[in-house]
Amino acid sequence: MRTATFSVDPDALRHNLAVARRAAPNSRVVAVIKANGYGHGALRVARALAGDADRFAVARMEEALVLREGGVTQPILLLSGALEPADVELAATHDLELEVHSAWQVELLERSRPERPVVTWLKVDSGMHRVGVALGDARALWQRLAEAPAVAGAPRLMTHFACADEPDNPHTTAQIEAFDAVTAGLDAERSLANSGGVLNWPASHADWIRPGIMLYGGTARVGRLGPDLDLRPAMNLDTQLVAVYPRHKGDTVGYGAAGVCPDDMPVGVAAIGYADGYPRHARQGTPVLVNGRRAALLGRVSMDMITIDLRAAPDAKPGDPVRLWGEGLPADEVAECCGTIAYELFCRVAPRVAYREPGA
Ligand SMILES: *Cc1c(COP(=O)(O)O)cnc(C)c1O
Repeated sequence: MRTATFSVDPDALRHNLAVARRAAPNSRVVAVIKANGYGHGALRVARALAGDADRFAVARMEEALVLREGGVTQPILLLSGALEPADVELAATHDLELEVHSAWQVELLERSRPERPVVTWLKVDSGMHRVGVALGDARALWQRLAEAPAVAGAPRLMTHFACADEPDNPHTTAQIEAFDAVTAGLDAERSLANSGGVLNWPASHADWIRPGIMLYGGTARVGRLGPDLDLRPAMNLDTQLVAVYPRHKGDTVGYGAAGVCPDDMPVGVAAIGYADGYPRHARQGTPVLVNGRRAALLGRVSMDMITIDLRAAPDAKPGDPVRLWGEGLPADEVAECCGTIAYELFCRVAPRVAYREPGA
């Protein structure tokens, strides 16, 4: 079937989680599988990592319930926290742990009487300035949570980094210092590190690390690709050539006549386009693998097709395999050619792209 498909390698996911553990040997692991496991399939990822992760984190209640319905039994941290009173009940029923990022969520918990108390993680804003309680309010809010009947045990403490993928950025040092100072002496487990923190900031490892992108093989350090950090791509996005045409030097290719053949050369057409989630703004020259060899995008990405300069794979013929990213072609590298990050490429793989078992 000549349409785009993707596969996910469970061994790569487990390998990448082991890389995180090696980097932070004294920390437990919250595997972040929000946004449908960064597009890889949340249940698929949770099942692959069931024996390796200490718990999972998702962004929304619906995502947590999908995992529970799918038989995932580990604790799940809900990063949005409770948005309404019913969420506290659901958390108690389904063994979900709640992030608490605002004073109004503390009040919501204070008013709740769930059937049993829930584990909470108070998010402190140490300098990212997105969500999180202000440094000056953190201790008092932690105390209030600790006293709330709806809250199980000592509330945990967490923060999130703005720049952890930059190994020398003093912003992260300042965030770690601010978090450590304001939480000093509180008897609570702590979590600071996303993937960037895991790989670049040992001082941030604490009790719990929260790797996301690195589990999927994406980079967490600027200027490096996933494979440079011993991370293996978990997702392969593949399709096939549907046509190959000989073109002449100066011929234009595709919409806007934007591709110009620099030579007499074969041009391939592959069955994938922006309707599959391959970004329309991928610039000419973006690498693709044809028969395992690096070829380059020529002209604009269409809805269902791309056109490829086949000079690097001159024998390629219709039906031959084309890889958009994965083993042999890091999504980080493709993302750079699209002015984005691998996170977005993964999340945008469209529902019409069918899943294919690895090796099938
Ligand atoms: C998404 C997220 C993570 C994981 O971040 P990566 O950069 O993908 O490792 C960790 N913690 C929180 C709170 C998040 O929202």
